Amino acid sequence: MKKLKYMLIGLLALLLVLGLWYGRRSKAREYTKTEYVLDTTCSVTFYGDDAEAAAKEVFDEIRRIDDLMSLYKKSSDVAKINSAKAGEAVTVSEDTYKVIETALSIGEMSNGAFDITIAPVTELWNFEAENPVVPQESEIAEALSRVNYKAIELCKNRTVIKQNDDTMIDLGGAAKGYAGDCAVKAAEKYNLSGGIIDLGGNILCFGKNPKSENGKWTVGIQIPFSPAGTYEKTVEISSGAVVTSGTYQRYFEAGGKKYHHIIDPKTGRPAEQDYDSVTVVSDNSLEADCLATAAYVMGENAGKNLVEEFGGEIYFEQGKKNQ
Ligand code: ADP
Ligand code: MG
Repeated sequence: MKKLKYMLIGLLALLLVLGLWYGRRSKAREYTKTEYVLDTTCSVTFYGDDAEAAAKEVFDEIRRIDDLMSLYKKSSDVAKINSAKAGEAVTVSEDTYKVIETALSIGEMSNGAFDITIAPVTELWNFEAENPVVPQESEIAEALSRVNYKAIELCKNRTVIKQNDDTMIDLGGAAKGYAGDCAVKAAEKYNLSGGIIDLGGNILCFGKNPKSENGKWTVGIQIPFSPAGTYEKTVEISSGAVVTSGTYQRYFEAGGKKYHHIIDPKTGRPAEQDYDSVTVVSDNSLEADCLATAAYVMGENAGKNLVEEFGGEIYFEQGKKNQ
C-alpha cells in the first residue's frame, strides 16, 4: 500500500516536471532590449531560446556600423574620407564601401535628390546644436558649391577617392538602413522563432510573430507630429523593412517656421513638400532608407516611380498640424 502511494507521488511529480518543461518549450521566450545608439533609441524584441544572446550580438553589430559610419566619430570611415586630400586612396570597411556604392547609385537614379556629399550643408544647418540658426544665403551657396556625389569615386580594394579636398560625405540617410540589414543577419544566426527590430522608427521583422494568427507582423505608420505610437495606416508583412524618413524628429523652429533635416541638394534648404514623412516597405533596408530620403526630396510622383523600380511600396503621410 505504502509502495503504491510513493509510486503515485513519484508519477505526479514527474508529470509536473514534464508539464513545466513542455510549457516552457511551447511558449517562445520573449526578450526585449533597448539602447541609445545611432543617435536614436533602438529596441529589439526576440522570440526563442537564444533571444537574450541574440539581442546582445545585434546591439554589438549596430554599434559596429555606427562606429564605421558616424559623421562625428573621429575614427569612423566617414571621418577618414572627409579629412582626406583629393586623389588620396582611403581604404574603408566592406560595409562602408557597400553603403557608399548603393548610395551613389540611388544618387544617380534620383538625379541627385539623394546626395551623400550633402555634408557641408548639413554641417552648416547643424540640427544637432542646442540653438541652431538659419544660415545666411551666402553660406548656403558656398556649402552647396561643394556638393556633388560625382566627386566620390569607388576604386578597387575597397578604396574611396575624392576629386576635391573639400568634398565631405554624410551617410545619415543610409547608415541606419544598413544597420537594420546587419541586425537581422546577426539575429538570424541564433535559434529564434522570430523578432522585430526598431531603429528609431525604421522597423525590421523576421520569422514568425507569435502574437498573430498568421505569423505576420503589423507595423503602424507613425502620424507625423503626433505622440509616438499614433497610427492610422498599418502595413502587414511576413519579413522585411518598413523605413520612414520624416521631418518631425529632427527639426528646429525659427521665426514661426520649421526647418527639418532632409535637405534638397538643389537649394541647400530643407525640402519643401506638403507631406511630412515618406515610408518605404522593402526587403532591403539599406535601399529603403536611401529611397525614403530621396523620395521625400523628389516629390510624390517621381518618388513613387523610383521606389517601384526597386520593387518597394511607398506611403506619404501628412501630420495633423499641416492639414
Ligand atoms: P532619419 O531616419 O534619421 O529620419 P533620414 O533617413 O530621413 O534620417 O535621412 C536624413 C539624414 O540624411 C540627414 O540627417 C542627413 O544626415 C542626411 N541627408 C539629408 N538630406 C539628404 C539628401 N538630400 N541626400 C542624402 N542624405 C541626406
Ligand atoms: Mg533615409
